[in-house]
Amino acid sequence: MRAIFLGTADGHTSARREHSGILILTQESSILLDCGASVARFLLHKKIDADIPESIWVSHMHSDHIGQFSMLIQSLWLRTRRAPLHVFGPADVLEDMKNWLEKCLLFPELIGFPIQWHSVKPGRGFTHGPFKLTPFATQHLANLASHFKRAYPNTCFECYGLILEHEGNRYVYSADLAHPSELSPALKGGKVSALLCELTHFPERDLFHELVKYSVESVWITHYPDHLVRREAELKLMAREEKFRGEVHLMHDRVAHEI
Ligand SMILES: [Zn+2]
Repeated sequence: MRAIFLGTADGHTSARREHSGILILTQESSILLDCGASVARFLLHKKIDADIPESIWVSHMHSDHIGQFSMLIQSLWLRTRRAPLHVFGPADVLEDMKNWLEKCLLFPELIGFPIQWHSVKPGRGFTHGPFKLTPFATQHLANLASHFKRAYPNTCFECYGLILEHEGNRYVYSADLAHPSELSPALKGGKVSALLCELTHFPERDLFHELVKYSVESVWITHYPDHLVRREAELKLMAREEKFRGEVHLMHDRVAHEI
């Protein structure tokens, strides 16, 4: 399985790096994990067919995760995509995105390809093409919800990470976390080939301290602040100090890896 890290920056604007987006490619299919990077430009630049991505996983409503969604749809329309696009995410997020496309003049009758919206629930796994997808809830927006949910009941405060199973291997996308302990439902189910993990909302050391409890072969760090860009060696050392034995990779924008 190939993972292209389209953007590795966190929610702060970075002069050199894009926001969240990981394109997963297999022989048979593809899924884009969040849509905060300028994926439309990347796909065009690399001459990637307009039927890719086959599906999109939307973790939550922060702009660094969904800000490029409508631009991607506009681009796929103008590039005459025909294949259906499957979008997975929390029910309320999908509803908001559907409405947003209407506001952006991207009507279903206009764009030339169907968008199939699939609302998902934590712990409820399902098969889609060659993948098994199982969402898990994180507490990323819990603090914000405690302050604002009453005043803004129509805003979605859910955030879902993803367990992605393919050809007998297990991969985990953290989405955004309040703390790495929230990865527990995803990591406790058996060996994880690759954890694609954010590293911005908690002390870096806490991640490795948590991971030693599980069987994780490799961690691919994304969604991290600018000050960590050149500190991969330091992070690897930290992982060893915490006795995490898996591989540690600090990802950079537009770099592809076999995971
Ligand atoms: Zn967020």
